Amino acid sequence: MGKVTIAFLGATETVTGSRFLVTSDKSKILVDAGMFQGLKEDRRKNWDPFPVEPSTISAIVLTHAHLDHSGYLPLLVRNGFNRKIVTTHYTAKLTAVILRDSARLQVEDARFAAEKGFSKHAIPLPLYNSEDAERTLLFLDSVPFREKVQLTEDSFVTFYPSGHILGSAFVVLEVDKKVFLFTSDMGRGNHPLLSAPDDPPQVGIDAIITESTYGDRVHETPIDSFADIINAAIKRGGSILIPAFAVDRTEVILMALHDLIETSAIPNIPIYVDSPMALSALDYYRDAIRNNAPELLPGIAKKWESFDPFDPGNLSEMRTVDESKKLNNLITSSIIISASGMGTGGRVVHHLANMLPNQKNTVILVGFQAAGSRGRSLEEGRKEIKIHGKWVPVKATIKKVENFSVHADGDEMVAWLKKTKKPQQVFVVHGEPDAQATLTKRLRDELGWNAIAPKRMQVFEVL
Ligand SMILES: [Zn+2]
Repeated sequence: MGKVTIAFLGATETVTGSRFLVTSDKSKILVDAGMFQGLKEDRRKNWDPFPVEPSTISAIVLTHAHLDHSGYLPLLVRNGFNRKIVTTHYTAKLTAVILRDSARLQVEDARFAAEKGFSKHAIPLPLYNSEDAERTLLFLDSVPFREKVQLTEDSFVTFYPSGHILGSAFVVLEVDKKVFLFTSDMGRGNHPLLSAPDDPPQVGIDAIITESTYGDRVHETPIDSFADIINAAIKRGGSILIPAFAVDRTEVILMALHDLIETSAIPNIPIYVDSPMALSALDYYRDAIRNNAPELLPGIAKKWESFDPFDPGNLSEMRTVDESKKLNNLITSSIIISASGMGTGGRVVHHLANMLPNQKNTVILVGFQAAGSRGRSLEEGRKEIKIHGKWVPVKATIKKVENFSVHADGDEMVAWLKKTKKPQQVFVVHGEPDAQATLTKRLRDELGWNAIAPKRMQVFEVL
C-alpha cells in the first residue's frame, strides 16, 4: 500500500465550496465540486486555479445536487476534466436543473455588472456558461443506492440515502484499502417525503469527514409557529415572501402549507412558486413519488397516488418573467416562494426589493443564512440592505422558522456518528468556524475521537 492523502479544498470554516480530494498512487478521487457562496472573499475563491490539473482527476463522486456541492463541476470540465461524475439517479436529474440555472445566472450577472459598471473586473466574465454546464451533464453517471461500485483500479464507492434532499447520499469511499465516510449534508429524519438517513455501515473506517452546519446549535421549536406568522401577515393585509432553496426546501414548504390549509390553520390564500428552477425540481419530486424512489418514506407513493402533495388547490407556478412581474402588484394577501434561499440571486432578489419597504409584508427565513448573504443581513435585523447597488429599507416583518431545516443539529450529528465503529481520524468540515469548533470539541470530549477541524488547502496522510 502506498500513501493515501486527503486534501481539503473547500467547505472549511464555511458551509460552501465542498471539495475534498483523496489521492493514492493510482487514483485521484474528488468528492463533491461545490461552488463557494456568500462572502465576497469566499466567492472570489471560485476563481482561484484548481490545485491539481482537472484532467488528472480519475473520478468525481457527487453526494447531492445542491450548488455548494455541485456548482464548480462545469469549471472543472471546461478546464479538462473528462471522466465519470458518479452519483445517484435523482442527484443527476437535479444537478442538471441546478447547473443550467447556475450557468444562466453567471452569464446574467456578468452582463448586468458590465452594464452597470459596478464590477471590479475590466470586462466582467462569467465563471462558466451554458455550454460548459451542458457538457458537464454528459459525464454524470448514476448508480443505485447501497451497492458498491468500482471507480478505478484501487477505488470503490457506495451511496447511502442521507435524507437531506431527493437523491442525497452519504458515501463510503475506499481508496487503496483506506476507508472514508463522508457524511456530506445529513438530514434530520423529519422530512415529509424522504426516509431518515440510513445508519452508517458497520465497517472499519479510517477517516470520517463530517458536516457541522448546525454543529453549535440545537434546533428549537419556534415560539411563533409558521401558521401564526402567516395569519399575522394576512391580518395586516400584507403578503408573505419565503426565500427558499429551489431544490427541496420549496417542496417541504409547500407540503407544510398543504397541511396548514387542509387543517384550516391558515386560510386558503394564493400560493405562488416563482422560480423556474424550483418548478423543474418540483417535477422531479413528483416523478420520484410516481416511481416510488428508494429514498422515499415507505407508503408515500401510495398516499399521494391521486393527489399532488405540493398543491393545496391554489398553487400557481410562475414559469415566465412576465408571470413573475405580475407578482409586483398583488391585490390580496398571498404567499410567494422564490429562490435563492439566502437572497443571493434569482427572482427572490426582485421580490425583496419590492416587498421589504412595505411594513404590512412579512419575510420568513426558513433555511441556513450564510455569512455575507442578504438573508443573513435580514436575520441580523439590519434596517436596510443593498440590492443591485441600491439601499433598500427593511420595513417588513422578518421572521425565522427553523423547523424546516434539512440539516441535522449538533445533538443529531453526534447521535448518528456514534453508531459507527470508532474511526482512526475525524475531520469536521462544512460549518462556520464556531460550529466547526464546537462539533470538533464534542466529538473529542464525548466520544473520545481524534477529531480536528482542518483549514482550507490542508493535506493529511490517512494512517
Ligand atoms: Zn445540501
